Amino acid sequence: MTAGITLALLPGDGIGPEISAATRAVLEAVATRCDLGLEFRELEIGLAALEQCGSTFPEAVLDAARECDGIVLGPVSHNDYPARERGGLNPSGELRKRLDLYANLRPARTFPGIDPPCGKEFDLVVVRENTEGFYADRSMHLGNGEFMPTPDLALAVRKISRHASTRITERAFALAAARRGKVTAVHKANVLRVSDGLFLECTRAVAAAHPEIEYDERIIDAMCAHLVRDPAEFDVICTTNMYGDILSDLASELAGSLGLAASLNSGADHAMAQAQHGSAPDIAGQGIANPASLIGSAAMLLRWLGERRGDDGLARAASAIEAALRQVLAEPARRTPDIGGTAGSADFTDAVIAGLAVDPPQT
Ligand code: ATP
Repeated sequence: MTAGITLALLPGDGIGPEISAATRAVLEAVATRCDLGLEFRELEIGLAALEQCGSTFPEAVLDAARECDGIVLGPVSHNDYPARERGGLNPSGELRKRLDLYANLRPARTFPGIDPPCGKEFDLVVVRENTEGFYADRSMHLGNGEFMPTPDLALAVRKISRHASTRITERAFALAAARRGKVTAVHKANVLRVSDGLFLECTRAVAAAHPEIEYDERIIDAMCAHLVRDPAEFDVICTTNMYGDILSDLASELAGSLGLAASLNSGADHAMAQAQHGSAPDIAGQGIANPASLIGSAAMLLRWLGERRGDDGLARAASAIEAALRQVLAEPARRTPDIGGTAGSADFTDAVIAGLAVDPPQT
């Protein structure tokens, strides 16, 4: 049996509680089959926490998340939160920054049987820097990276550091070594010569140390065109925070739907499963959200934990979830409306649980 794991489960807002419950059910089922000794600490964040204790991200949640072996974060409606001074903290940004979850791995791949809108099969990962860039809540030690010297003038600070650029590139190269061996750095150094220039200086230095990995560079605007034209050209895309956020939504939608888009935020000591999409208020409470995104993210978290602990049971559990997702998504009758089906979230989840087949341990 795997030495027990405890996961913090933070359901969030909008469709968050629905897809978090689905993810918990799948994790509990796979834990039973793989003898994982899994426990959950479910904690309120977002608008529910604001009502209960005056903050969308109570400090006790951070403490609990830090103590747990991993975090599963549901999407949050941070656009609806009040100002920070009135308790409106973005749980996603807080966790990424304060647990130093610097690498956001965002896979985008087509699934057998689901016709991708782009008409081509592909499998890529966007490796997005997560702790700086154009994110007002992340880039400053003190204060906010967005400010207004006068009512008619707004400024934003974008932070790019050698340290963060180097470590995210190293993460991208390590990932490429385990995949098809290609990294594409995405930038706008033709205009942002100093900041994206520094980012590129770092990616080139890491590339020079890894001649076995193919390396190329694209300017962000051209990259959007190239991605739409032929996503199969790319393996690992390494980029700064906001370019990565935008490119990964584009890539996921090209693959089929944001509802399929898993992601993992990881650092040296902590990792957090989080769907790529937001809280989808337009479909919240209807029981039709596609939980594949968060279920797939949870599989990534188990794999990360397995690699860290050298625990084959966790890797097999992750593979079982991913295989069940592929199998259920291949059946049109099991699909949720975002990918052309009529199934509800609960039917989809039940089918994934029924499809969990765990490989025996390797001897
Ligand atoms: P944010 O700004 O936090 O990224 P948003 O409100 O801009 O969020 P999303 O919440 O990601 O955007 O929703 C974008 C679209 O994708 C919506 O039409 C939403 O219904 C759809 N969508 C997102 N997630 C899912 C899902 N899991 N299942 C089905 N549809 C989804």
